Amino acid sequence: MPEPVYFDHAATTPVRQEVLAAMQPFFGPRFGNPSSVHRWGREARTALDAARERLARCLGAASDEVVFTSCGTEADNMAVIGVWRARQESGRRAVVTTPIEHKAVLAAAHQVAREGGEERLVGMQQSGLVDDGSFDALVTDDVALCSVMWVNNEIGVLQDVPALAKRAKARGVVFHTDAVQAFGKVEIDARRAAFDVLSISGHKIGAPKGIGALYIRRGTPIEPLMFGGTQDRGRRPGTENVAMAVGLAKAAELAVAEREHEWAKLEAQRDHLEAAILARIPDAVIHGRGSPRAPHITNVSVPGVDSESMLMALDLRGVACSAGSACQSGSISPSHVLSAIGVSPDLASAAIRLSLGALTTDACIDRVAELFPALVEKARRLTPA
Ligand code: PLP
Repeated sequence: MPEPVYFDHAATTPVRQEVLAAMQPFFGPRFGNPSSVHRWGREARTALDAARERLARCLGAASDEVVFTSCGTEADNMAVIGVWRARQESGRRAVVTTPIEHKAVLAAAHQVAREGGEERLVGMQQSGLVDDGSFDALVTDDVALCSVMWVNNEIGVLQDVPALAKRAKARGVVFHTDAVQAFGKVEIDARRAAFDVLSISGHKIGAPKGIGALYIRRGTPIEPLMFGGTQDRGRRPGTENVAMAVGLAKAAELAVAEREHEWAKLEAQRDHLEAAILARIPDAVIHGRGSPRAPHITNVSVPGVDSESMLMALDLRGVACSAGSACQSGSISPSHVLSAIGVSPDLASAAIRLSLGALTTDACIDRVAELFPALVEKARRLTPA
């Protein structure tokens, strides 16, 4: 059997060697607690402060605007629930988000509703983009926070976050964006775009799983989700994970430095793959294809070929990819993202997400471009009309 190929970079990425090397000393001699006053503590504090400063620079931010979290999910939860709790007294009791968000945002919005707030979901266009009319109708002066993801993790569609943030802020609404899939692909600069709060996650950019960060623009009201020590000025108590913070900063610097080159490489590979699939399966549907998209995700449905059997057939031939997002694999309900943009249940249950990244070579693309249509043709021959 040929070497297995990995087409699931939107689920997670391999840890980069440079990141591992930067983290290594903190699992060895540099093990101190950054809150300790002695030399071990001071050494850890210096490394943590430097990591924060370096990550902040990658976001066009000041270092006191960056909070390290345990993952992207925690960052999203803190943004939605933390800002809402801080603002509800002011009469702004609603949270507005989109139905295509990651569950880390959607479930946080449900929690706001359980705590007495109001959850509003913006309408979507079939293109995968936010419906502007619906956005303007829902983002009113009783809204505490609006959260719109920059790049969708299932279909790659890229929202116009700078424009949406501007419109939300004109109504006094705090604007959060989940940039977990956008960081390292899209230019993100807090000096140029008006978002107030932004989430990222390490394991999507070559750092390990279990580290994320939240950018919080100075002056943004936000409550902590955890209570304990005074770390991070009380915003995020708990002894800091120095090694992981250092790893995230390193991965972020590399991602920003390589961003434009990476975009061009992935875009060419994705376009080649999609063209090869469409050439042999003209009725295949590539979700979000006509919209602005990040280049690392393609999501394709072939009418009549269900995703579970296709995934298994690909896996047997060494191709690792996913149906919808990783958190939903194993569940047979169709993707909430595809449903929200009006894809029929039949087509949604045929969706396969192939996501590209550091491990994707042109040879991998050629292999899948050949294999995918061949498997589809075989599945169709075996399926009664
Ligand atoms: N937001 C998006 C868009 C994601 O793709 C993910 C992970 O799949 C998350 C949030 C959650 O990040 P983490 O796995 O670090 O909790």
